[in-house]
Amino acid sequence: MHNHRNGVSAVSFGAPAWEVSKQNKVIDIRTDYVTPNIMRRSDGHEFVNLCSCSYLGLHSHPDILEGAIAAIRHTGALDLPISRIRLRLNLLEEFEDRLTALFGARCLSAVTSSAATAGVLPLIASGHMSSDGTPPVMLFDRHAHFSMDYIRPICADETEVVACRHNDLEQIEDACRKHKSVAYVCDGVYSMGGVAPIAELLSLQDRYGLFLFIDDSHSLSLHGAHGEGYARSIMREVNERTIIVASLGKAFGGSGGVIMLGPTEHEDILTRFGGPLAWSQGLNVPGIGAGIASSKLHDSPELSRRQAQLRRNMALFDSLIATEQADNGFPLKVIAIGDEDRAVAASARLFEAGYYSSAVFFPIVKRGAAGLRIMLRADNTEADIRGFAQALTEILQRDLAPAPARVKADA
Ligand SMILES: *Cc1c(COP(=O)(O)O)cnc(C)c1O
Repeated sequence: MHNHRNGVSAVSFGAPAWEVSKQNKVIDIRTDYVTPNIMRRSDGHEFVNLCSCSYLGLHSHPDILEGAIAAIRHTGALDLPISRIRLRLNLLEEFEDRLTALFGARCLSAVTSSAATAGVLPLIASGHMSSDGTPPVMLFDRHAHFSMDYIRPICADETEVVACRHNDLEQIEDACRKHKSVAYVCDGVYSMGGVAPIAELLSLQDRYGLFLFIDDSHSLSLHGAHGEGYARSIMREVNERTIIVASLGKAFGGSGGVIMLGPTEHEDILTRFGGPLAWSQGLNVPGIGAGIASSKLHDSPELSRRQAQLRRNMALFDSLIATEQADNGFPLKVIAIGDEDRAVAASARLFEAGYYSSAVFFPIVKRGAAGLRIMLRADNTEADIRGFAQALTEILQRDLAPAPARVKADA
């Protein structure tokens, strides 16, 4: 027990900071959109949301909204609720064909990228994605996103699973020398900064046949001429030893997830035996319609225009506020505060000043490294970014006393 998961300890470590957040009213907030940029809390308080993952601001793009509506009208139903392996809408096929053309790799969709990962990883573990059927030893990068780590215990029931030091090419090569078949599981771009060493990993793949599973949710739409993401933009092709998954619910501006595959045999295995890919719902009709509209935008000058707007906003932010993530090309920034209570208090004050940021603490960041997380977007205004920087500076300079609400140890 507890070789790959320990729920009791995870919850007991994580719970206190959430409780403080709740008492400071910076989570569980009910709200409506006023504009794509401004939100209104149910008591009327209006604020700028700086925590949306719609990095290109596409979730409010009129074409995408219209695409969702048109798809419902055209179909006359919200969904075709039956496993895709039996029946699937032509509209879904059209969407996947568009993604395939856009990203230059056979693409399947899923209801979320987490569901895609939950479907794919166990089949890698059982050897069904390897050409000779050998279950690979699986190395999970220590910084791999929760959605991969969560499936680790299932993989460990199929094959040997090893925690890999972050981006440690030596450890990966060492495993390749020792074992006939090895798979490495990682993010393409890491949200807290840094990227996977894709070129070096491809070289290990050439030399040893290393299998790569890459979650590029953080960079889809942000990187690449067609928004194909960081890892895909470096690879010549997605070969039979590589699978990339990514969320369509972030910068892409739609919902669901995408799986980029090499050979078509993998497609049949995945749709028949890929857990939630086989038994659970797929993208519903508005999700498909929005996705088709977004694919068209990705194939138009609008994509590079928005990518450039986002870069401008990131540069403006970096010129005003120092973070470890400055100039790393990714819109997520963590403003270091240190103490958890102080981070929650700062988040609460900023919220009252009209800016929603999220306080992050262990286990999202290291212990004692609590801070405020914000995500920049292409559709932030210059006034929003400057206003946030000013409010932050004032709040951090003023004493944050009185102390924020605390959970008593004996409560
Ligand atoms: C957000 C995120 C996910 C989850 O995406 P869903 O499509 O909502 O499941 C998975 N992986 C990474 C790296 C993410 O950033």
